[in-house]
Amino acid sequence: MNQRTHSWIAIRAIALLEDEKEERNLVRLLKPHARKATVGAWIPDQIDAKRGGSSTENHVLKIEPYAGDHRGRFITRKKELLRRIGTFRKTAQLLQNDSSLDADWWAAPYKGDVRKRGQHLPNRAMALSTMMKDLLLMGNPRIDQLIPGRVRFAQYMDPKTRTEEEAVAMYFFMLSHFVADASMPCHCDGRYLAGYARGLHKELEAHWSRKVGTGFEKANLLQPDTVLTDAQARADASRVLERARDVGAKFNLDFKNSVPGLRPKHDVWLELVDLCRASFAVASIIAPPAQYPYHSKRKAPFKTVFSGANGQLLKEVNKAVLHDAVLNTAIVWKHVWNKVAAEES
Ligand SMILES: [Zn+2]
Repeated sequence: MNQRTHSWIAIRAIALLEDEKEERNLVRLLKPHARKATVGAWIPDQIDAKRGGSSTENHVLKIEPYAGDHRGRFITRKKELLRRIGTFRKTAQLLQNDSSLDADWWAAPYKGDVRKRGQHLPNRAMALSTMMKDLLLMGNPRIDQLIPGRVRFAQYMDPKTRTEEEAVAMYFFMLSHFVADASMPCHCDGRYLAGYARGLHKELEAHWSRKVGTGFEKANLLQPDTVLTDAQARADASRVLERARDVGAKFNLDFKNSVPGLRPKHDVWLELVDLCRASFAVASIIAPPAQYPYHSKRKAPFKTVFSGANGQLLKEVNKAVLHDAVLNTAIVWKHVWNKVAAEES
């Protein structure tokens, strides 16, 4: 996704949590900073961030057929994958309704092409989300007020080292970037055709950002010189969230206004591995391996794969990817928040 779409996903995720009404304090923390999602949600794709933790390998889990010694470990049958990701996800519904990927496809092993051990998208999301739990506990008194339970060590910390709301909101936005990327089929497909500059990937992202519209462009979200009263700022944040809901309506996204937890016994890493595996399956529906073999250099232009009768597929892909990018972001955020906000027993 490009900057506009990443901004929209993060802001729509705040609106989803607001509509769900369960995590009011998390919404209190994030909503005033909604416009700044355009910065935080895009930092991981900035060229300068590559000097830090944002090398390209950390944005992708490029999956491909696997022929190594541990084949059994890398087979996830359709029923099992759907059980793990849950049919409340639109991606799962798309896979459930699909018959183009047959039983042989689902019986084969697939694995991420991880060049350096441990270096991939689920790792990056796991690392960031784990650190965020610590940073939330080290929050300043205003963050502390939003989190039930006492943090006894905080009193000994130098006040300057305590996490500010602006900082933690930005970390939430950065995290949304990685969760959204796991929901994007081309980020999870090891084929040549899924590379950013090779057609499909870039064209699909351009298609989404045209619909998201210029309202979510950085220049239109950031208002550096405006000074607002508290009431004006609250009204402004509500308007930004409302605009994000309107964009969702353009894609016919029907959010159920409920944000489930991670699958029981899952952590962010396992959850994202399964989401990447599902996104890889979606990529294989868009560009069927019979026509676009996994090791070929054939490109799959947007116009070709979504032409004619496949126009319907495009609508389904839009819905599945964008709905789930928002929902998955809200799920992972809520998981981070609930870990620290759980009442002391
Ligand atoms: Zn990215």
